[in-house]
Amino acid sequence: MNQITHWINGALDTQKVERSGEIFNPATGKVTAGVALADGATVDRAVDAATIAFASWRHSSLTKRTQILFTFRELVLQNKERIAALITEQHGKVLSDAAGEVTRGLEVVEFACGIPHLLKGGFSEEVSTGVDVYSIRQPLGPVAIISPFNFPAMVPMWFFPIAIACGNTVILKPSEKDPSAAMFMADLWKQAGLPDGVFNVVHGDKESVDALLNHPGIKSVSFVGSTPIAKYVYETGTKAGKRVQALGGAKNHMVVLPDSDLELAADAAINAGFGSAGERCMAISAIVAVEPIASALVARIKSRMADIKTGDGAKGADMGPLVTAVHRDKVASYIDAGEKAGATLVVDGRDVKVDGDGFFLGPTLFDNVTPEMTIYKEEIFGPVLSILRVNSYEEALQLVNSHPYGNGTAIFTNDGGAARRYQNEVEVGMVGINVPIPVPMAYFSFGGWKNSLFGDTHAHGTEGVSFFTRGKVVTSRWLDPSHGGINLGFPQND
Ligand code: NAD
Repeated sequence: MNQITHWINGALDTQKVERSGEIFNPATGKVTAGVALADGATVDRAVDAATIAFASWRHSSLTKRTQILFTFRELVLQNKERIAALITEQHGKVLSDAAGEVTRGLEVVEFACGIPHLLKGGFSEEVSTGVDVYSIRQPLGPVAIISPFNFPAMVPMWFFPIAIACGNTVILKPSEKDPSAAMFMADLWKQAGLPDGVFNVVHGDKESVDALLNHPGIKSVSFVGSTPIAKYVYETGTKAGKRVQALGGAKNHMVVLPDSDLELAADAAINAGFGSAGERCMAISAIVAVEPIASALVARIKSRMADIKTGDGAKGADMGPLVTAVHRDKVASYIDAGEKAGATLVVDGRDVKVDGDGFFLGPTLFDNVTPEMTIYKEEIFGPVLSILRVNSYEEALQLVNSHPYGNGTAIFTNDGGAARRYQNEVEVGMVGINVPIPVPMAYFSFGGWKNSLFGDTHAHGTEGVSFFTRGKVVTSRWLDPSHGGINLGFPQND
């Protein structure tokens, strides 16, 4: 069986594998590969490689870095379908979704190609007589990126193009559930001419994460995953003196006002609720319907759900399986809990029939969900949509703002003033107006509020550049040549 191992110093690691995990194809339920799980010694070797590479990479010219980034961009583009196929095989999402995430990641590479402009500092002449002050930004050193299973290409690409462009070296610890996209990209970096040791991939679970968090050679940690782990990573990493940005889980609300276009809102609910089987941090999982339109909206969503074909994402299905059997069972247990709590089960995904042993669960819709129910309070991370009925905008806003998560939200309305008020008053990091999923745009920054982000720097955009660099301010005085020294031909004072 194929054994996926680490990528250290520009090559596959050849050390004996002490511990390993299993990789599944979620559409068939079959084990397709093993993955090495790193211990502290493996992490040490990766950090050593990244430390040695940093000494010269930090002095590489901006022109050289840009050329390598452009070449990497071309290679990823040429191989987009292959990367998408790897993602579908290990994650389960449909091929078009997988290709879409590669495109989104590429946009960050394209943003990073502009690094000569992004790293320009400021300059103030003559702050005092003969004195100038200027600012420069310098790389941190070896940086760690720890990513989740649900975007095995895009989430690492939120960080590593910018980190590398800024002159850092990287150790990526991808999810142990779908590590092959990261390995494929490591090879593309090598083909693009990136020096060995600048980009390393270490696979593993808690043991490898802890080793990275406590390693004195690691200067910053960019984490994306569930809220309990994000909080742990933030607390442990900052305690060890590192700069940390830790993006956590979500419970995204979509508020539908009575004046909205219900056809548009229902289409949006389907795409944002069931795309990627709900395994997206920007998935909509709670719809707040402001009366009197709730029943009309539920009817429209229900009728569209009948057309969603659940099946193998590589074979033309609309919605693929969940990532593992354990996760499928966990999501199904939320459906049990919702039923027990008294929510109205409009469509039951547990009834779905797909041939084989894949980890499938059909799209599910609950109506009359109330705030104290577990299916509302917790992140489900599966194809389960909940409708909450409220009587006013104020009630809807209060609901959204009371929730501990604050990643993304959407409002559907034809009233610009209502939308404007919502964008101002809602306590959430990313807002869509008649758009269900405000997608991450590379040149803006991506990140939530409250329990959806620990640390204060969002991913990519100019915030990414400042996260991966340290500012330095230089105050300089050069004596005027006429003051003496070597006679350079300037007029001399008496
Ligand atoms: P996860 O928290 O289980 O794992 C994330 C990473 O942490 C993985 O690399 C994993 O190996 C590692 N990890 C797991 N358990 C650990 C532990 N006990 N100690 C140290 N490290 C550990 O998350 P997941 O299931 O891979 O991903 C889904 C979660 O990620 C969801 O909660 C989703 O909302 C969130 N997510 C958030 C964003 C965002 O932008 N806020 C984006 C994508 C995913």
